[in-house]
Amino acid sequence: MEVDRAILEEHKLIPGRSVIHLGRTIGDPEATHGCQICDDWDGLIVASGGCRTLLLVASRYRHHAGYLEAWRPTP
Ligand SMILES: [Zn+2]
Repeated sequence: MEVDRAILEEHKLIPGRSVIHLGRTIGDPEATHGCQICDDWDGLIVASGGCRTLLLVASRYRHHAGYLEAWRPTP
């Protein structure tokens, strides 16, 4: 539990945005947030809409009431 809370704190979702780089869209144009660790792109938070690490941590609680199937990480 304490480790999970530490991971949640490290992988906090914060406001971000998609960017166009070399003609390619980086991030999800529909998303408004990204992970402060996983989506940091040279100091810019790229909007991804979530964090796979958070989903993996949450999957430990998949048998608890309130866990949403939408949170299940894809293989
Ligand atoms: Zn993350």
